Amino acid sequence: MNIKKFVVINWHITEACNYHCEFCFAKWNKPVEIWSNPDNVQKVLSNISQHFRSQGIFRIRLNIVGGEPIMSPERLWNVVEAAYNNEMEISIITNGSHLENIRPFAHLISQVGISIDSLDHETNMKIGRECGGKTICFDALRQKIEDLRKANPDIKIKLNTVVSKHNFNEVLVERFAELHIDKWKILRQRPFNGNSGVSDYQFYAFLRNNFNENLMQANVPKPHKDLLAAFIACEDIEKPNEPQQVIFVEDNDAMTESYLMVSPNGRLFQNGSDEYTYSRPLTEVSFANALSDIKFDSKKFESRYASWPTQNAVNEMEYFFHLVEDNYDDFDCFTELSDD
Ligand code: SF4
Repeated sequence: MNIKKFVVINWHITEACNYHCEFCFAKWNKPVEIWSNPDNVQKVLSNISQHFRSQGIFRIRLNIVGGEPIMSPERLWNVVEAAYNNEMEISIITNGSHLENIRPFAHLISQVGISIDSLDHETNMKIGRECGGKTICFDALRQKIEDLRKANPDIKIKLNTVVSKHNFNEVLVERFAELHIDKWKILRQRPFNGNSGVSDYQFYAFLRNNFNENLMQANVPKPHKDLLAAFIACEDIEKPNEPQQVIFVEDNDAMTESYLMVSPNGRLFQNGSDEYTYSRPLTEVSFANALSDIKFDSKKFESRYASWPTQNAVNEMEYFFHLVEDNYDDFDCFTELSDD
């Protein structure tokens, strides 16, 4: 595997969640979850860490996913502390309903990704992003994000939105811009377990209404506190006063076999077909042996953080709605161009 410099491991630490989204694919048939046993958490994380360090890769980000990892803050803390002890960067993906639970250790978290598909109560009820009839409240979310930033001014805030038949007509970009987020990832609801996934029309309609980088680029990135230290650490150095891309789009193909994912019971798994394929447990075999058990596309993994899937999706949306000329035959490459 030719992964350089930086890897991200998504550990789906639990299947439990307070929401019940219609298109949730975080299902593993309720296995015994590793995070109930701190010794096994430590085993899995040191296995991962040792593997990449032996390959000269020292930047490892553990992305803690669920289910909803924030529902059990004490167990989550055990995982965060073990990742910290293994010198990993730590990020968390959450549905945002209990964001306040990570505030005590927000200083150890580099990024929080919040999944928000809609800001409309009825739409969230239809999707299943609700608990006891309660859905996300934008003002409460803004306050919780502000509180996190007070605890860790460097924390990056990312929003994830899955476009489905329920929310494709919603315009979210203006409200999201108010949150001064660092990244907004727009994902396409993919076919799974008999669901056909979102249609081209619905996905492109959402992009047409929401892909507005001008609004998002109002977020000027904070200059890195110590440019020299960042350079020595070979980190990406954000240039002050230069707008950065905020909106990223992932289509189905980029989402398949392109993540390094660990299941709640500590096995690598892949989502290449309708069913997951699993490795042997990371508590029992080395990471390299576990990786050899699954189908993994390292090229897609390396390109996931590039911007071309976004540009491709936007180009396709523009062709779809005939916003651009799609007939290149009229253009004669050999016509001499004059200066006039
Ligand atoms: S919030 Fe996430 S984990 Fe929970 S039901 Fe929805 S998609 Fe699944």
